Order: sequence, then structure tokens, then C-alpha cells
Amino acid sequence: MKVLVINCGSSSLKYQLIDMETEKSLVSGLVERIGIDGSILTQKVEGKDKYIIKQDMKDHKEAIKLVLEALLNKEHAVIESMDEITAVGHRVVHGGEKYSDSVLIDDEVIELIKDCIPLAPLHNPPNIIGIEACKELMPNTPMAAVFDTAFHQTMPKVAYICPLPYELYEKYGIRRYGFHGTSHKYVSQKVAEVMNRDIKDLKIITCHLGNGCSLAAVKGGKSIDTSMGFTPLAGVMMGTRSGNIDPSVIAFLVEQQGYKLEEVNEMLNKKSGLLGISGVSSDFRDVQMAAEQGNERAKLALDIFNYKIRAQIASYAGIMGGVDVIVFTAGIGENSSFARKEVLKGLEFLGFNIDEEKNEVRGEVQEISTKDSKVKVYEIPTNEELVIARDTVKLLNK
Ligand code: ADP
Repeated sequence: MKVLVINCGSSSLKYQLIDMETEKSLVSGLVERIGIDGSILTQKVEGKDKYIIKQDMKDHKEAIKLVLEALLNKEHAVIESMDEITAVGHRVVHGGEKYSDSVLIDDEVIELIKDCIPLAPLHNPPNIIGIEACKELMPNTPMAAVFDTAFHQTMPKVAYICPLPYELYEKYGIRRYGFHGTSHKYVSQKVAEVMNRDIKDLKIITCHLGNGCSLAAVKGGKSIDTSMGFTPLAGVMMGTRSGNIDPSVIAFLVEQQGYKLEEVNEMLNKKSGLLGISGVSSDFRDVQMAAEQGNERAKLALDIFNYKIRAQIASYAGIMGGVDVIVFTAGIGENSSFARKEVLKGLEFLGFNIDEEKNEVRGEVQEISTKDSKVKVYEIPTNEELVIARDTVKLLNK
């Protein structure tokens, strides 16, 4: 059985075709600049040259059409007919409170994803466009929606209700939802498997550190808290996002300094974090390089980044009454031995020691704590696509 996994962004589309017998990705691809001049599709198949199509694509429907053509292309293909795609799994960012798990897509589900647009105005619309385009092009292929928010729906009220007038929650759904759920779910389950432990007995802190960063406290296999909130702007500091700040800063900038609200919003989302403090880049590697060359603001940016994550880890160990394992994943978490080491500095009292040599490994499942550590630390490459494909198959078999 083969499942096509689709992740639509505003002008991009990532896809993978996964063989569910082996759980191996057969094809992965990226379409960029959809609706912009210079659209490009890049497809990778193991052991073959990259397949690149440069052709203007005015919308996601054209992009998906091209993806299907690329999957069937004689020289590059691994499938001979569309019938080989048993199902499609779509990543959907926001499922609101309605979805605590993945669902098979029907008209009602599409309507409910549309209802969540006010909660994720940048993300849900392209997700819906992707679903509708696939529905048109492959009308008989079952599709599932896998939500970024779903894994965190197990958070208790103390974690998700904001200390605002309660009516705002009832009227507008203002609460903490959390994101990156698919990744937190995957790495927490994977680490339990690797440790050969029942996840029900574990207190896990997962650190998803990429361009967007979030942490989750996973107790007994359930997310009981996570650092992102009503939107993915909340929590720890990120590449361009501020994370938590005193909300009064917004009123101060608008009322006292004459900023427009859209400007402040743009600033918090796109011009803050590593980029804002360093003035160099939002990319962790660039900031690290600048710091190594003596750039003081770059050094400060890294120090604050690490500090916020360290504080969040300590807080989650606190609310879970301890921690058994800390997991690092995503671009920075999987690749930067420096970030892992710096984040963990001072937290050794929790009960771990880092094995410096093991910590140098990149992008592999690897224990980086020493053998005698009571608390374990792991690096686990995330695989959101596989979770989406697995959930899709699970729904089909129901
Ligand atoms: P996204 O959230 O967009 O999926 P990624 O998970 O790919 O992002 O993470 C991107 C981040 O990972 C960037 O800040 C990048 O600098 C960082 N990164 C990637 N490789 C390395 C590396 N070898 N060392 C340090 N940081 C890295």
C-alpha cells in the first residue's frame, strides 16, 4: 500500500509517497513559488538524479497536477498508475477543539477546517486548497486530515485556558492549542520504542527546534502542556518569532510610538527572534557563525534562545514531577550539538550527563546522555510525513 502525503503552504507544497509495508519514503518532492513567477518542482527518488520541472503554476491545483505527472513520469517514477496511490494524507495546521485525532475527509470535515480559518488565517486556507485540488484530481481516492493541533488536545484546562475573561474562550475559542503535534507525537513514541519502555510509564520532554520551535511535556504518552499557544507565535524564542513577551509591548508600540498594528504583528512574527536580536539572520547556523566571529548581538541571540528553552525544560520537569527523557528534534535539535549542549547547561541536576562524543552525531537516532545517566537525553530525527501516512492507513482500516 502506498500513501501520498501532502503538506500545502501558502506558496509551496511538500509531498512524499510512502510505502506502508516498509514505511520507507519512495519519493519526496517540493514545489515552490506556486502562484509566483518561476514556479519549480524538485523531486527526489533514492538512487536517481533529481527531477526538476520549471513551469509556471498559477495555483495549488496546477501544482498537484504536476506532482501527479512527476510521480508517473517514465524515467523518474516509482509507480506506473495512479491506482497505486491507495490514499492521500493531508497535513492540516488547525483542527480547533473539534479534532483530537486524525479524520477521513468528507464535506463536513472540509467545512470544519474552514471554520478554523480565523484561528490559522495563514495556514488553513492553503491546506483546504490542497485538499480540494486532490479531491478534484483523484475523486475516488480516500483522504485523511492530520492536524498539527490534535496531539495537544489532551492538555488539561489548567494548561490551555488563558488567564483572560472566560467569555473570550466561550465566544471566540481563545485558548492555548499548541502546534507541531505530529512531530511531538512521533518523537515521543519513537524514543519510548528505542528505550524499549512502555510510553505509559514515561515522562518525556520533547524539544522541536527548527525555524519554528516548541516544546511539549508528554506524560504517559499524552501531551499535558506545550509551549506554543493560541497561535504558533507563543512560547520560546524562534528564528523570526518572538515567542512569549509582555503583551503590553504591543499597546506601547501602537499607542505611544505610532506603529500600525499590522506592523507590530509582522515584527513579532517575521522580524524578531534570532533575526531580531542578532540583526544577522534567522538561520541558526548563520547566527552561530557570526557569534564565533565575535558579533556580540549574535552571541546574545544564541544565549537568549538557549536560555528560553532551558527554562521551559525546567518548567516541564516541574509540572510532571520529574522527567525520564529529554528529546531533541527538527533542524536545530537534530543537527546542532552546540545548541543541545548549551540548552542543557545547568540542567544536569535533573539527573543526566552528556556524552560529548555521542553528542557530535547529526540527524540520527542517538542517545547523547552517558550510560549511567538516570535521566536520558536523545536526538531523534522527526518524521511528520510518516505519522500522517500511518494515521491515514489506520483510518482506512477502521
Ligand atoms: P522548519 O521549521 O522550517 O521545518 P527546520 O526544521 O528545517 O525548519 O530547521 C531549520 C533550522 O535548522 C535553521 O535555523 C537551520 O539553521 C538549523 N540547522 C540546520 N542544520 C543545522 C546544523 N548543521 N547546525 C545548526 N543548525 C542547523
